[in-house]
Amino acid sequence: MLPASTVLPRKVFDGFGYASCSVSVFTEPKNGEELAASFRYAREHGLTIAMRGSGRSYGDAAMNGGGLVVDTRSMRKVLAWNPDTGIADLEPGVTIEQMWRTFLKDGYWPAVVPGTMFPTIGGIASMNVHGKNCFKVGPWGDHILEGELVAPDGQVYLVNRDENADLFNAAIGGFGMLGAWRRIRVKLKRLHSTKLRVKGHYAANLREQFQWFEEYTQKSDYCVSWLDCTVGGAALGRGEPHSANYLHEGEDPSPDFEPAHQDLPGHIMGVPKALVGTLLAKFNTNWGMRFVNFAKSTVARFGPKGEYDQGLVAFNFLLDYVPTFRDAYRPHGFVQYQPFVPKENAEEVFRNILRLTQARDVPSYLGVMKRHRPDAYLLSHGLDGYSLALDFPITPSNRATLTKTLHEISDMVCEAGGRFYPAKDGMIRPDHVQRAWGQERLARFDTLRKMVDPDRLLRTELAARWGLEG
Ligand SMILES: Cc1cc2nc3c(=O)[nH]c(=O)nc-3n(C[C@H](O)[C@H](O)[C@H](O)COP(=O)(O)OP(=O)(O)OC[C@H]3O[C@@H](n4cnc5c(N)ncnc54)[C@H](O)[C@@H]3O)c2cc1C
Repeated sequence: MLPASTVLPRKVFDGFGYASCSVSVFTEPKNGEELAASFRYAREHGLTIAMRGSGRSYGDAAMNGGGLVVDTRSMRKVLAWNPDTGIADLEPGVTIEQMWRTFLKDGYWPAVVPGTMFPTIGGIASMNVHGKNCFKVGPWGDHILEGELVAPDGQVYLVNRDENADLFNAAIGGFGMLGAWRRIRVKLKRLHSTKLRVKGHYAANLREQFQWFEEYTQKSDYCVSWLDCTVGGAALGRGEPHSANYLHEGEDPSPDFEPAHQDLPGHIMGVPKALVGTLLAKFNTNWGMRFVNFAKSTVARFGPKGEYDQGLVAFNFLLDYVPTFRDAYRPHGFVQYQPFVPKENAEEVFRNILRLTQARDVPSYLGVMKRHRPDAYLLSHGLDGYSLALDFPITPSNRATLTKTLHEISDMVCEAGGRFYPAKDGMIRPDHVQRAWGQERLARFDTLRKMVDPDRLLRTELAARWGLEG
């Protein structure tokens, strides 16, 4: 099984934002034995190893130019499932989509989901993914009960909150630097309905956005807001917040747990999805996006308000409505950047981010704000505050200004006690990493790496860029 004489195939791997790419050899193990064989092969050939799930991280987190990439998407078995408790043992390549398609008929839903259904549970655990309900139920790590991590030398560590607890707390959100997840035990959420009761709002400026979050996070299961990042002056930070609540027992007269009935619609406001991608590409300039953001703000302001019921899939996976949206950013791609800032400083920092990016003519084409809470994971991005996810197109003419601007913003975020999300980073420098997490946490992380991977075989381009190589 994978003898040392095998010549592995090679291909180009990129991040979801298309902003960087590199060539690596790769394997696609189908089970734990093949995963171990990939590691053995890497040791024999002196190759560094990066784990990869669906490659949905925007930047360089699952890339390893010149080394080995282990693509885990073929390890996608549900190893055990208990419909009484909602506890499942999963191979690392099981995706969010596979989870809801498998477990919904028993009345269960992943307690946390990102804005797309394609990530794998291995990638999710390694990034400690958060959802629009993070302020209430925490990130994914809080719903992982235990796992098995395979070290590059083949040793398997059982990790949970009692056994190897330090390793467990560091591997969740440890961006693949502390071994490969071979099995992950998760707890899903019991549902009484597959619908959410959703309410759309309008916030005229950034102050109103924060006021809205303060009020609605007290009484909602989900809160998220879209921001128009292209407008300044009195309307700076305007946008459309949404709140949503699960339906309680008895509130849905005819609960429907058939997964096929949850599929996303083929049209958005009457326009076929495929065409929406093409239309977006036509508007993909600063002026085009000012117009799109203005139009969306106007609909949010004057359009119908009030509550409506919406399926969990339709509410949560908005970005999957237009799967080709990223193609609008070709050929140079885009960076996603998501700083997390403590609640005391978040409004000021977000205001400065919007002002600076507009003044430099590098506005974000999309802005999404969420509320978070602190968690137990060593290098977590989670804190008692807010995050602002931003999409910046890259062009030959804006690249230098954008890089300079995001570095200045990262300084501001560090100054304010903030952190960064590795799944949505392609820009920050080692000094930002040091300031965001501090020497003590980074030293503890390093000690665990020395235990699991003394020869530093696990490597990604993100870890190298963050100064964590060697
Ligand atoms: C449209 C879109 C919307 C998104 N919305 C959100 C959101 O709302 N909230 C959020 O938190 N994130 C969000 N994300 C980011 C996404 O959830 C994360 O990047 C997630 O990690 C992707 O999972 P993946 O399987 O694609 O992992 P990859 O991107 O392939 O890998 C992510 C990391 O996990 C490591 N890894 C992968 N598999 C393993 C394994 N078996 N063992 C050890 N390490 C492993 C990799 O080395 C890498 O460091 C979004 C991404 C997209 C594209």
